[in-house]
Amino acid sequence: MDSAGRYFASFVVQAQASALPAAQPVVGIDLGLTHFAVLSDGRKITSPRFLRRAAKKLRRAQRSLSRKEKGSRNREKARVRVARAHARVADARREFHHQLSTALIREHQAVAAEDLAVSGLARTRLAKSVHDAGWSAFTGMLAYKARLYGRTFHRIGRFEPTSQVCSACGVKDGPKPLHVRTWQCPSCGAWLDRDINAAVNVAQAAGLAVTACGAQVSPGPHVPAQRSEAGTHPKPRQEAA
Ligand SMILES: [Zn+2]
Repeated sequence: MDSAGRYFASFVVQAQASALPAAQPVVGIDLGLTHFAVLSDGRKITSPRFLRRAAKKLRRAQRSLSRKEKGSRNREKARVRVARAHARVADARREFHHQLSTALIREHQAVAAEDLAVSGLARTRLAKSVHDAGWSAFTGMLAYKARLYGRTFHRIGRFEPTSQVCSACGVKDGPKPLHVRTWQCPSCGAWLDRDINAAVNVAQAAGLAVTACGAQVSPGPHVPAQRSEAGTHPKPRQEAA
């Protein structure tokens, strides 16, 4: 029985590893904080509504607990409610990780994800979001499901400055402030979406041939923009999930 008053039974089954039918060749994944994951095919994945709803319930339960008098019966009841809400958030997150990792492995022959220095990040003020995101649990699922279904999984260390390199021509044109979400490569003229560009670079760093065909922001003019157009920006693709 856990602190939320839930009982568990566990048992072991033997499962045969079985290759899935062939699928789309490769996908690169950029794990981030604004989106849970951005894929090299242009899809941006946020955490699902059921997870956000559970997190909201947890915050409400925690606020209610903090208002209860120490040692009172109501405080004990509120404590159990918080423990239950915690457990529900953890379950919802695990469910989301399972759904997404299974879909990615099913749809692709090879998957590459950035291996973020999670322990390093976790010591900074980003700690809460990092723990909430649960990247290492997620990449762990990708790794074992790849083994189970005859796919390939690559972890890419954060040695590549993924936002500084153009995924179309490979030119490195330096760091950009975080608020810069899209830019045009000064060398080849491609319009790049920060997150998708990073995901394509992750796949390329894994040695996987991947182009951002159709995934990047639609190309801007190859000739210098007219004065009247100089201030316009391409529209980034909308979220897929
Ligand atoms: Zn370029």
